[in-house]
Amino acid sequence: MAIQRMNKSPEEISKLSKAVQLDRVKNGSHPWQRRPDGTSQATDKVISGTHHFLKRADGTSLALDRAKNGTSPFLGASVNQKMLSAGKHSSQVIKTCPHCDKTVSAGPFAKYHGDKCKKKTT
Ligand SMILES: [Zn+2]
Repeated sequence: MAIQRMNKSPEEISKLSKAVQLDRVKNGSHPWQRRPDGTSQATDKVISGTHHFLKRADGTSLALDRAKNGTSPFLGASVNQKMLSAGKHSSQVIKTCPHCDKTVSAGPFAKYHGDKCKKKTT
């Protein structure tokens, strides 16, 4: 039997995912999409110097930094297991938002709280 997530079959998840990506293409917000002038979100990042594959003058990059400090998502399950057993995995790091006082794990904190919190006043 196939693994089920969100009470949906892999086929249903695939159809939903395809619909989301087609919406992003229609809205012009898909990260791989080229604009009529030939630019994309990736070229914007290269121009602003924030693309993670860009090499610095010393030959290092953001991607290399993440590989060295063990936070790259491409390092595999053994790194995740080490982080989980050490209690340092992002799902185990708990933070409290100074703006709304909610206590959440590091992932949702980075996405929805801190400087991005709805309750933050400027
Ligand atoms: Zn918050």
